[in-house]
Amino acid sequence: MIPYGKQDISEADIEAVIAVLKSDFLTQGPMVSRFEQRVATHVGSKYAVAVNSATSALHVACLALGLGEGDWLWTTPITFVASANCGIYCGAQVDFVDIDPDTYNLCTEALQRKLEIAEREGRLPKVLVAVHLCGQSCDMATIHALGQRYNFKIIEDASHAIGGKYKGDFIGNGYYSDITVFSFHPVKIITTAEGGMALTNDHYLASQMSLLRSHGVTRDPQLMTHRSDGPWYYQQIDLGFNYRMTDLQAALGVSQMDRLDEFISTRHKLAARYDILLKNLPVITPLQHPDSYSGLHLYVIRLRLDEIQASHRQVFESLRELGIGVNLHYIPIHTQPYYQKMGFRSGDFPNAERYYADAISLPLFHTMTEEQQNQVVAAVRKVTAR
Ligand SMILES: *Cc1c(COP(=O)(O)O)cnc(C)c1O
Repeated sequence: MIPYGKQDISEADIEAVIAVLKSDFLTQGPMVSRFEQRVATHVGSKYAVAVNSATSALHVACLALGLGEGDWLWTTPITFVASANCGIYCGAQVDFVDIDPDTYNLCTEALQRKLEIAEREGRLPKVLVAVHLCGQSCDMATIHALGQRYNFKIIEDASHAIGGKYKGDFIGNGYYSDITVFSFHPVKIITTAEGGMALTNDHYLASQMSLLRSHGVTRDPQLMTHRSDGPWYYQQIDLGFNYRMTDLQAALGVSQMDRLDEFISTRHKLAARYDILLKNLPVITPLQHPDSYSGLHLYVIRLRLDEIQASHRQVFESLRELGIGVNLHYIPIHTQPYYQKMGFRSGDFPNAERYYADAISLPLFHTMTEEQQNQVVAAVRKVTAR
């Protein structure tokens, strides 16, 4: 089976992890801050807080922004459930904004309309999670302007987008948001096995997130309520978690960062090749917005079902039978049973549901060969034939 995504671990990556295994610290040693600095410098952000997953990063980001009971978090229905669940963790309520039918990212016109209504009804969101689906940036300039006008905070869920750019600058620089989150799960662009990071230019947010990733405990005398009792002393000043990244993971991350640019350019080459090879087939290839240089975590095609004999499901199943590890990113969150219990219904976000009815993620990963890619295209041609 040709997988839809796959990590690429080099000898240098393995050596980096072994070096940590032979060192004094498996966790809480020097590698985590090295990894943080590496990513922050690369994307142009002041502060970075490494944690054990992007889910944890989203959670501490929401808490640092003060999200809590009585607040609303808005996001897109076409994302992994973690982009919404982080609001629920904080006791907030979650609502969704339908997607743009061309980019599949949160639609800024729909956002504007929903904000106008929410303002009249007195239930404006406190936090908006903007997800850069497939690695392509949302329309951040518009989202940022709306954030200023309606006074909400912005988290960029850039789990798909490390190494990508918006208007020529790296995603994660925080020009248009309060916090940006990356994921380092093995299917994503670079990996630390499990892992995530939250980036910000705000010192207060960074220190809150660092505190929350490690039990709410500090050794910083400036944060303590009174003078230290002695060299052993620490204080718990908030309720935090154990969301720490290990040095083993961070060493892998530092080593993977060496190849980030190469990973992205390979993804672009493969995607450009898909664009050409799929041209005359009854599928819509992904639109690349001129403001965006995508991280290209995913290559999603939409089936032109009116030109295809088989159904979406039949095409998907036939591709799997032919050894093509296709996937579907994502099932609209508002149709999940957990969210339906909150009152969401099918039909609430029609563009998201239309997307779900014909989208398929084709395999795309750094070590993919042209031969494998030809195999994918041949299979798509075969199963979409009239
Ligand atoms: C993968 C992913 C997450 C969660 O990342 P983990 O590191 O697995 O917790 C969150 N949001 C999006 C959009 C993702 O793709």
